[in-house]
Amino acid sequence: MTADGIVGEFLALKSETDADLLAMQCGDFYEFFAEDAEFVGDELDLKVSEKSSHGSTYPMAGVPVDDLTPYLKALVERGYRVAVADQYETDDGHAREITRVVTPGTLLETTDPSAQFLASVVAVDGRYGLALADVTTGEFLVTTTESAADVLAELHRFDPVEVLPGPTVRDEETDLLARVRERTDAAVTDHDEAAFAPGRAERTLREQFGDAALDSVGLDHRAGVAAAGAVLAYVEETGVGVLDAMTRLQAYDPGDHLDLDATTQRNLELTETMHGDRGGSLLATVDHTVTSAGRRRLREWLTRPRRDRTVIDRRLDSVGALSEAALARDRVREVLDDAYDLERLAAKATSGSADAADLLRVRDTLSVLPALAEAVADSRLAESPLPGIVNRPDREAAADLRTELDEALADDPPKTVTEGGLLRRGYDPELDDLLDRYEGAREWLDGLADREKARTGITHLQVDRNKTDGYYVQVGKSETDDVPDEYREIKTLKNSRRYTTDELEEREREILRLEEARGELEYDLFRELRDRVAARAELLQEVGRTLAAVDALASLATHAVSQDWTRPDVVEPGPLVVEAGRHPVVETTTDFVPNDVSLREDRRFLLVTGPNMSGKSTYMRQAALIVLLAQAGSFVPARSATVGVVDGIYTRVGALDELAGGRSTFMVEMQELSNILHSATEESLVVLDEVGRGTATYDGISIAWATTEYVHNRIGCKCLFATHYHELTALADHLPRVENVHVAVAGDGDDGDDVTFLRTIEEGPTDRSYGVHVADLAGVPGPVVDRSRDVLDRLREERAIEARGAETGSDDETTQAVFDLSAGTMRTGADGGTAGDEPEASLPADIEAVLDELEAVNVEETPPVELLSKVQSWQRRLED
Ligand code: ADP
Repeated sequence: MTADGIVGEFLALKSETDADLLAMQCGDFYEFFAEDAEFVGDELDLKVSEKSSHGSTYPMAGVPVDDLTPYLKALVERGYRVAVADQYETDDGHAREITRVVTPGTLLETTDPSAQFLASVVAVDGRYGLALADVTTGEFLVTTTESAADVLAELHRFDPVEVLPGPTVRDEETDLLARVRERTDAAVTDHDEAAFAPGRAERTLREQFGDAALDSVGLDHRAGVAAAGAVLAYVEETGVGVLDAMTRLQAYDPGDHLDLDATTQRNLELTETMHGDRGGSLLATVDHTVTSAGRRRLREWLTRPRRDRTVIDRRLDSVGALSEAALARDRVREVLDDAYDLERLAAKATSGSADAADLLRVRDTLSVLPALAEAVADSRLAESPLPGIVNRPDREAAADLRTELDEALADDPPKTVTEGGLLRRGYDPELDDLLDRYEGAREWLDGLADREKARTGITHLQVDRNKTDGYYVQVGKSETDDVPDEYREIKTLKNSRRYTTDELEEREREILRLEEARGELEYDLFRELRDRVAARAELLQEVGRTLAAVDALASLATHAVSQDWTRPDVVEPGPLVVEAGRHPVVETTTDFVPNDVSLREDRRFLLVTGPNMSGKSTYMRQAALIVLLAQAGSFVPARSATVGVVDGIYTRVGALDELAGGRSTFMVEMQELSNILHSATEESLVVLDEVGRGTATYDGISIAWATTEYVHNRIGCKCLFATHYHELTALADHLPRVENVHVAVAGDGDDGDDVTFLRTIEEGPTDRSYGVHVADLAGVPGPVVDRSRDVLDRLREERAIEARGAETGSDDETTQAVFDLSAGTMRTGADGGTAGDEPEASLPADIEAVLDELEAVNVEETPPVELLSKVQSWQRRLED
C-alpha cells in the first residue's frame, strides 16, 4: 500500500521502527492510522474514524496530547512496544520524528510501585550473563553463572517485565528461552544483535560508568559485560532518557544469596500463591511497610535471603531493637509515612519528566532523613545498627539540596511547568524584577475601575478580561453617555458596552509580555533546578534506599510483635532446631497447632508420614519458611529457633497441586527432582513432598526409595520427605541419619469411626495410611469406600485381591480374577483363579490352609487356651 500525505508519513515512520505500534503527533493529538488505529480501537476502546488522504480513506484513532500516558501505559502493560513520533517546528512548517519507543521494561510512567526490571540474558563461552535494570529507580545489577537453572531462578526472583535474549540464547539448543516464556509473563524482545557483542558492550559500559568504576566492579566474565552493555544500549535506544539515573552497576554473586530455584519460590508462595494471587503470600502476610520503596525492599529480602551471617545478624539486631522499642518504632513508621519514592523521583528528574510537584516531593522526602535520624537516636535504638544505616547517606548534602529546593519552589505550584508560578520570590533577581513589574501593572489594573469611577462619576463601571476581548472597561447602558472621549467601544452587550483605551491596550501588552517572559524564565530556571536535582541522582537513590531499608526493618519488627515471633539464633553451619514452630501464613487464618522440628547431625533426614490432609506439607513448608525468614533477617514464628545457615532451599511439593495448575505432572515432577538432586549440596535444605506420586505404585516406591538413599548417602543435606508409602518408613532402621516422624491422629478410621487430625508431629512412623477415610470424608459413594477398606485389608493380609465383576444392572458381583501383589500378576479362572494356571509365586497348599484357618478364627469368642494350642499347631505345620 502506498499513501501520500499524513498517512503516508505515518506509514513511512512506522517502517523505520520495529515497534508494534506508532503514535504520531498531529497538533494537539497523537494519532494512530491504518491497522494500528483498528488495533488500538479494539484494545483500548478508542473511537475509530475515517481519514481521507489523497483519494483513499484510512482508519484513524487519536488521543489528546496530554492524555497519551495512560493509553501508552495500557498498551505497554499488555506487552506491546509503542513508538512515539513527536512533531516539532521547522523553518518551513513542521516535521515529525520518532523520539522514543516505550516498551514494558522502559515504561517510566508506570504507577505500579513494584520494581520493573528489564533483563538481558547472554551466553558467551559456556557462561551466562544476566543483567537487570529498573529504569524507574536506576537500579542496575549484573551477574554471571554457569547454569541455565540459575538464570531461571534469578529471573523468577526479579520477575522482569521484559527480557532481551542475546543472539546465542535465541537460537540455543537448550530450551532456556522456552522456559523463560513458560515461567514468566515477561515480554521477550529481540534486540539488535550487535549490542550484545562483548567489545561493543564493554565500550557502552565504559562510557556510562567510566573506566575506574567499571574496573572496580570486577566484571570477570564477558557474558556479564555483554548482558549489561546490551541493556544499556537498549535503554538508550528507546529514548526513555534515564541513563543518568543508572548511577552504579552492581555486580552480584548469586552465591551471596540463598539458592531458591524457581519452583521453590512458587511452592513456598513467597510473593504470590500457587493460584497467582498476591494476597495469602508470605510477602503480603508480613508486609507492614508504609512506603512503596520499603515494600520493594522487603520483597527483595524475602526472595533473596542471605547466606552470610554478618548481614543477617545486622538485620536481626535492627529488627530486635525495633520490636522492643514500641514507641520509637511507631515514631519511625510515622516519620516514614511522609516519604515519597525517591529512587523513582530521581529517575524522573534525570529523564526530564519531573514537574514542580515532583521536586517538592523530593524536598519533603529529604526532610524525612533528619526526622528519622532523630527517631533512631532513641535510647533503645541507639545501640542498634539503625543510627549507622540512617547516617550512611551524606546528610549534609541532602540538607543542602533540601534547602535549595525549599528556597526555589512555590508552595502550591501549577501542574504545567511552562506557565509560571513555580518559583518563589527571592530565588532569582531577574525573576523578581519581572514579577515586580508584572505586579505593578496588575496593581494599576486593579485600581483602574475605582480611579475611573471617581474621575467620570460613572457608578456601573468594571474592569475585566476575557479571551476574545482582552482587558476592557465595561459600563452599564444607562451611563454610556457619560464615558470620556478617549474610550473606544469594542463591543455592545444587552445591558452594557465594553471599551478600551490606548493606555489600557499598552498596559495589556505589557502584562502579556511580562507573563510570557515570566513563563519562559521560570521554565528555564526550573529546568536548571531539575538538572541540579538530576545531578544528585546518586544521593537521592542512597537516601531512598536508606528509607526503604528502615521501612522494611520496621515492618518486620511490627509483624514480629503482632504475631509473637522470636529472634532466631542463626549459626553457621548448624542444625535446625525449632521449638513450637508455626507456619507464618497459615497461623494468621487458623488456630494453628505448633510443632517442633529437629534436624541435627545425627538426624538430618526426616521421613514424615501421616494421613492425607493431616498437615505434612504445612509442617515441611513451615520448616523451610522459618529457615528462609531467618536468613532474610526476620524473626520467625516459633517459641525458639536455632537455624543453621543453608546455601539453598529446594522443594518439590505436591504433584496434585501442580495438576490444578495445568502442568503435566510426572515429567515435571521428575525434572524438578532431577534438578534438586543435581543442585543440592550438604549445606542445603531439601523438602520433598510425595515424590513418585505421579506414577504407579511400584514405580513410585522405587523412585522414592532410591531418592531417599541418594539424598542420605551422597548429598547428606538436611531433608524433610513426606510420603504416603508406608513401606519407606522401614528405611529409618537401616540408614543412620534417617528418622521417622508422623502427624498424630486420634481414631484409626476403621469401620467409619472418626479420625481427628491432631496436627502435632510425633516421633516414629504412622502405623497405617488413612486414604480410605479421606475418600469417605470427601463423599465418595459408600460401596466404593467399603470395598476400598476391604481391598486394603485383603492386600495387607493376603497380598492378593480378587477383581469382581457383574452384569450391568445386577448387584451380584462375581470374582473374575485375582491380582497377586507378590507376583504382580493376574490369575484368571472360572471362579476367581483357584482353578486354571497356578501362578508360580502362589503359596503352597499347606500354607494356604493355615492361613484360611487363621482367617476363620474368631478371636473374641475363642478361649485363650484354645487359641494358644491353635497357634502352636499352625507353627508346627508351617515348620513342616
Ligand atoms: P498433607 O500434606 O498431610 O496432605 P496439609 O499440610 O496440606 O496436609 O494440611 C492440610 C490442612 O491442615 C491445611 O488446610 C492446613 O491449613 C491445615 N493444617 C496443617 N497443619 C496445621 C497445624 N499445625 N495447625 C492447624 N492447621 C493445620
